Amino acid sequence: MPEISKGVYFIQGQDEFIPDSHIYIIGEPSSQDLSIVDTGLTGKGTYKIQSIKKMGIELSSIKRIIMTHTHFDHIGCLSEIKKQFPDIEVWVHKSEAELLEKGDERAVYGMDELKGMCQMQYGLKTGAFRFKVDYTPEDEETLEIGNMVWKVLHIPGHSMGGIALYNADAKILIPGDVVYADYAIGRFDLFGANARALKESLLKLSELDVDTLLPGHNRIVKGLPATYIKETAKMWAPYLT
Ligand SMILES: [Zn+2]
Ligand SMILES: [Zn+2]
Repeated sequence: MPEISKGVYFIQGQDEFIPDSHIYIIGEPSSQDLSIVDTGLTGKGTYKIQSIKKMGIELSSIKRIIMTHTHFDHIGCLSEIKKQFPDIEVWVHKSEAELLEKGDERAVYGMDELKGMCQMQYGLKTGAFRFKVDYTPEDEETLEIGNMVWKVLHIPGHSMGGIALYNADAKILIPGDVVYADYAIGRFDLFGANARALKESLLKLSELDVDTLLPGHNRIVKGLPATYIKETAKMWAPYLT
């Protein structure tokens, strides 16, 4: 089921012992102005690009990568994808963009133990995650891209600069790792996480009219119950103080 709805395509993550984030391609192909949302785990660049080709999407119509946040499982293969698209832009919320541009990898790995493990597993050196950021989408900003309208919501808590993308026309929400199916939410113990902010972010998302939930991992949901995010926030509230 790669096409979720008009102008929204899904490529499932291929988890290893570290998860690989899903990615989404947004925009109507005829616009020649498509965006990739997140990239995925180190080593998964070829898989993601092959999957995009298989869907019949022209690589030349992809203009930017929008990161929901910069954790390793989402940004790991950014350099692999950038190699295939020399002119592609990278969009990241400013609070994580500042780190990324300095090569400060705390937001990528989240904690020293994970940094050591990921570097060893993938043969990565310190400084592998230094990128120029071309644009920093802000909270409440409206993006008119690919003949579609996406609202940006800053939803910190799982990470500092987490953003969601929301399409009101089709009631589609891409929340990164803030909320998943089955009443799950993102972890809040990594660098830059904040439990209270996560609660506020869940409440902010609960105001939206969402029919299709496209999270960073696990299953996607069509026909989301109207109170799903509110119930999820309520369930987790005792832990988010
Ligand atoms: Zn994450
Ligand atoms: Zn993730």
